Amino acid sequence: MKIGKGLVIVGCQFGDEGKGKIVDYFSSKPWIDAVVRFNGGSNAGHTVIVGDTKYALHLLPSGMIYEKPSYIGNGVVVDLGKIGEELDELARIKGKRVDHLLKISDRAHLVLPHHKTLDAFQEEIKKKTSSEAGTTKRGIGPAYFDKVARFGLRLTDLWDEVRLDAHLDFMNEFYAPFSIELPELAGIKDIKHDLLAFKITYEKNIIEVGEHLEKLLSGGSNVLFEGAQAALLDIDHGLYPFGTSSTCIASGASSGTGIGIQYLNERIGVVKSYVSRVGSGPLMGELDTTENPGKLLQIEGAEFGTTTGRPRKVAWLDLVAVKYACRLNGLTGLAITKLDILGILDEFKVITEYQDSETEEKSTTFPARIKDFERFQPITKAFLGWGRFTADEWIALMKEGWKAFPENLKNFINFLEKETKVPVFIIGLGPERKLTFEKIKLKL
Ligand code: IMP
Ligand code: MG
Repeated sequence: MKIGKGLVIVGCQFGDEGKGKIVDYFSSKPWIDAVVRFNGGSNAGHTVIVGDTKYALHLLPSGMIYEKPSYIGNGVVVDLGKIGEELDELARIKGKRVDHLLKISDRAHLVLPHHKTLDAFQEEIKKKTSSEAGTTKRGIGPAYFDKVARFGLRLTDLWDEVRLDAHLDFMNEFYAPFSIELPELAGIKDIKHDLLAFKITYEKNIIEVGEHLEKLLSGGSNVLFEGAQAALLDIDHGLYPFGTSSTCIASGASSGTGIGIQYLNERIGVVKSYVSRVGSGPLMGELDTTENPGKLLQIEGAEFGTTTGRPRKVAWLDLVAVKYACRLNGLTGLAITKLDILGILDEFKVITEYQDSETEEKSTTFPARIKDFERFQPITKAFLGWGRFTADEWIALMKEGWKAFPENLKNFINFLEKETKVPVFIIGLGPERKLTFEKIKLKL
């Protein structure tokens, strides 16, 4: 009997590489049977444009747009209020409810109101030492904090009132000292009412996701694992402490859903052809957005946060970081996005190495120490752009095939493949669904 396979899609930079669009593209394939989120929470912002409709999802798997069975794994921290809002919004756009397609792991932890209060509070205090991450204030860090400290609430606890009461009591007591400054924290227990109401609303949506996925995969179904955030925000391998609180790399698709690593068959890394960053922390090759080329990339690339609306900083593509992401994720393929934007520039750059400004030594190691980013200067290689194309012009080129693409674009992609030793499967040429070109056909 045929055994199903997994396709993992992850970000290789600081998020916002266009993962939502790539996930949506593969969700359209008849050979993808289900879509699963495995990390993060409503901090993610996945923008998908279908015709004239723009979907901005945060917590729901992008597969919901294509109406594929969609799952939220145990590695995700779940804000049930946000789930309700997004399901309502999807129903409004689609003109019908698709709630039944969503299943959430009984082991996933809940994001509670006190997590959001603490998120904002921590950021304020961290500002004193310039160590704030510029979080999305969605309560992500504090929710994972409660989880790792082992007094977090999991969805399954809604069916165990003894445990529910015990955890709420503990949280109330544990966070009481903060309530002098944050009076909202005095009433953590008051959430019980809302939680029990959620239990009734979502009773049919909450299951043992790991066991369910294992059955799907071993029964021949193919599953797409949708990463949130990206390698450089990963809790272990990212720019600590300026990243997020979850595992954002491909292996998280196993631990964050409860299936074995044998099912993570294809691992596609999404790389934006330049870099954007929302939030704080160092950024190699950062460009001034008050003038070109930084201004052009930010404006034409619509680099404003989906979750927070913040303007994103922009920088040249950093190959040191991309190669690091290739290693961390064990990538089998790349998807390069926003080539339509980068190509408008007459000339653009790619960072190939870092150089220590004190010793002049060159390095291709992604530094662990934040301080090193101040000492290191990027060494760049220049490329020529390919000009501005309309959507119809891109579509005409796509029909003709890869050979017809502009020489400068092909040179750039060939260079990336040679440097990373990972084949480029997907080329992103615009925000719409139809502007995704499959340079190499992926088949599971
Ligand atoms: P948190 O995940 O809200 O705690 O934020 C931690 C850091 O990760 C901040 O710098 C955020 O801006 C960044 N971040 C979190 N989620 C995303 C995302 O989906 N795209 C881009 N940046 C993100
Ligand atoms: Mg985003």
